[in-house]
Amino acid sequence: MSMRRVFIMLSAVAALFVMAAPEAQSQRPTVTTPRIYIFEAGNIRGLDPKLFNFKREELKEVDFVNIAYLIVHPKGTLMFEAGAVQDSHFKADGSPVTEGIMSASRPLKPQLAAAGYSPADITYLAMSHYHSDHTANANDFASATWIVQKAERDYMLADKPQGIIQPAHYSALRNSKTRILNNEDLDVFGDGSVVVMSTPGHTPGHQVVFVRLAKRGGVLLGGDLYHYPEERTTGRIPTFEFNADQSRASRQKVEAFLKQNKAELWIEHDIATHAKLPKAPQFVE
Ligand SMILES: [Zn+2]
Repeated sequence: MSMRRVFIMLSAVAALFVMAAPEAQSQRPTVTTPRIYIFEAGNIRGLDPKLFNFKREELKEVDFVNIAYLIVHPKGTLMFEAGAVQDSHFKADGSPVTEGIMSASRPLKPQLAAAGYSPADITYLAMSHYHSDHTANANDFASATWIVQKAERDYMLADKPQGIIQPAHYSALRNSKTRILNNEDLDVFGDGSVVVMSTPGHTPGHQVVFVRLAKRGGVLLGGDLYHYPEERTTGRIPTFEFNADQSRASRQKVEAFLKQNKAELWIEHDIATHAKLPKAPQFVE
């Protein structure tokens, strides 16, 4: 065999390694239709039903589940919600973390990794609203484009924001590439399959996400538009809304949308809803 031939062969082998390397690093699946990954972000226990205008006996379940979602579309990814407990608060032994009424047994990023994604793979970050049970790991996604309503962002980045808020959770987003919405909806990938919808009321710029899935159909990730299914059936509004009239209007808009699109609603804190759904690395498509 000539030296030249050996060189060509070696070059070919080297080229194969170069081609294989990116695939070996990333286990990201090939996606042809949108899918939703569901991450478990713990629970909230010991809530007072009176805060939500209910008596204990009027609610089937008082506790909340906390959820974060990853929507994967052929053109990119949207992380919706950032959890209730910061990953950095987990100890190396992986034992569950309890912080006041919040608890979590699994950090977020390992769940994301198990699905094949790292924060660097995330194109867009959106949160339903600024309450701290939705923002814990937001800083991890500062390299994504933040999709946020102007009223919400203004509130979050004010000098001393008051209420159920932890500015340290999302301080890095101040400098993120940002898509600011003015009480408007956003068709994220341009084909109508993933839409961020403005639903103010619970907070100044609360938003929800509609996803049209090829197999399951339309799903609306409802954030805290409702907390309990009983809010939906009775029309009751929590006591701590930023603007209860806006909440009613947003609910009306969403209910009409659900009907029109034959879509289902996933109430984010509802234990029963999420008990029936597969968790990452499985997904809904
Ligand atoms: Zn919440």
